[in-house]
Amino acid sequence: MDTGWPLCQRGGDEYPERSVAYCRFGKDSDVYVFQAEDGSYICCGCDFDGGPVPNEGYGLAFSSPGQLLKHLLAHQAAGHQVPEKALERLAEEARLRP
Ligand SMILES: [Zn+2]
Repeated sequence: MDTGWPLCQRGGDEYPERSVAYCRFGKDSDVYVFQAEDGSYICCGCDFDGGPVPNEGYGLAFSSPGQLLKHLLAHQAAGHQVPEKALERLAEEARLRP
C-alpha cells in the first residue's frame, strides 16, 4: 500500500522534500516529526505509546499539532531526546490551530 508518505526509518536518509520537519533524528533528537502534505502530523518510524500505526515502518499520524505535542512530551518523559525548538514550534501552532 502506498500512503504517499516518505520513507523515514531511523538512520535512513530519505527525507520528505515538500513537508515541514520539526526535528530530525540526530544526536540531539530521538524523534523525527514533520507535517505531511495531507496536513497530518507524523512521528516517523515511531511505535512508542501504543498509538494507531497506520503503516508499519512509517510511524504514527496525528491530526493536530496539540496531539503531536502531547505525544512528544510523552517521549520526553520516557527519557527520549526531543529538541526544545520542536516543542516550542508545536506549542505555538497548537495555540493558533488547536
Ligand atoms: Zn513518537
